[in-house]
Amino acid sequence: MHTTVGIIGAGPAGLLLARLLHNAGVDSVVLESRDRPYVEQRQRAGILEQGTADVLRAAGAGARLDREGLRHDGIELRFDRHRHRIDFPGLTGGRTVTVYAQTEVVKDLVELQLTEGGPLLFETEALAVEDATTDRPKVRFVQRGAQGGASGRESVLTCDYVVGCDGFWGVSRKAVPTRVSRVFERTYPFGWLGILADVPPSHDELVYARHERGFALLSMRSPVVSRLYLQVPADTDADAWSDEAVWDELERRFETAPDDDWVLHRGPVTAKSVTPMRSYVHEPMRHGRLFLAGDAAHIVPPTGAKGLNLAVGDVVTFARAFTHFQSTGDPALLDAYSETCLRRVWQAERFSYAMTTMLHRPPGATPFDDRIQLALLRRIATSRAAEQDLAECYTGFPFE
Ligand SMILES: Cc1cc2nc3c(=O)[nH]c(=O)nc-3n(C[C@H](O)[C@H](O)[C@H](O)COP(=O)(O)OP(=O)(O)OC[C@H]3O[C@@H](n4cnc5c(N)ncnc54)[C@H](O)[C@@H]3O)c2cc1C
Repeated sequence: MHTTVGIIGAGPAGLLLARLLHNAGVDSVVLESRDRPYVEQRQRAGILEQGTADVLRAAGAGARLDREGLRHDGIELRFDRHRHRIDFPGLTGGRTVTVYAQTEVVKDLVELQLTEGGPLLFETEALAVEDATTDRPKVRFVQRGAQGGASGRESVLTCDYVVGCDGFWGVSRKAVPTRVSRVFERTYPFGWLGILADVPPSHDELVYARHERGFALLSMRSPVVSRLYLQVPADTDADAWSDEAVWDELERRFETAPDDDWVLHRGPVTAKSVTPMRSYVHEPMRHGRLFLAGDAAHIVPPTGAKGLNLAVGDVVTFARAFTHFQSTGDPALLDAYSETCLRRVWQAERFSYAMTTMLHRPPGATPFDDRIQLALLRRIATSRAAEQDLAECYTGFPFE
């Protein structure tokens, strides 16, 4: 088997890249280790930056997003029983974000790929990327049998280029020799206990709450499905929390002033899980003809809602650079891929880290730490410049 661009992974990065290349007349093959229902139902991100929504529309994947996505013009910060709204369009010259679940982005892109695009092979696991520094890199892969076990038949996909879109636990990054890799990493001593609940959201915009008991986030997947999170210790077992205990704790952390009539709506919990928090960057994002994109190269804590958006930024950068190379023979943009992506990645890392440390209460936090967090939040609530910075970062960094 041979293709121009071999893509490992059918998450948002791999699927969107296949679509962008298809639209530019470039053939690709996507290898995905899991089956289609698993990939389409994996609960993850839900906030699309303005630029991400625009890219999906331009790629022909915006019809359902425009019908069902919820445009959000702001978020609320809640601290010390105080509520402060950040008005995105007013602070950024009109920029907004869209609430549209990653599951739906993936479903739309899978459907397009299967009806109009090139091969998308589910239950096909890449085992290794080889010969990345030659002009004929290879992906060794194995197809799964009906019972999920390996069918035993190993095959090779030869490519002109390989893009590793296989997430944090994939194989692509391992093809970069350690002597050229640099890894920058921070783990956090807490995670997010997330629930999905069949209940209309208790507020029409996301609420980020800083409380002495820990962080809480109110978000939504649709007008009738809420997604809520609680900061918990990193090693928490989600099943140790009853639904009632989760709602009680959310209510405490979303505390408002006594004269405020805001209420938290409760409803049936349909999913519960714990997400660890990590900041991670692998440099460079290119080795020979292997390019890394999305979570395969970097991870952010979800507080800034940047993970999915960064993945989109990477593949847009690759697709532009590759089509420029194909049409002009000029490799300058491809050669600059890693540097171009990393400028955006590090801005998102900085913002996600700043939001995380401002809103979460680490174990052993001192009264000094508490005062600094509150001072930061009050600064945002009283300074247009500080508020504007948050609004610009949240609605998204431009594609270069
Ligand atoms: C539990 C969880 C919750 C999250 N919540 C949020 C959130 O609330 N907000 C936010 O902005 N971001 C969130 N993120 C981050 C966001 O979902 C990711 O940044 C985004 O999915 C990145 O897309 P990707 O395509 O790079 O990687 P992924 O979505 O991880 O896709 C990688 C794909 O590669 C496949 N794969 C892996 N190994 C192989 C292999 N060897 N062969 C073939 N295929 C392979 C995987 O099955 C997967 O389909 C969350 C992430 C996780 C893990």
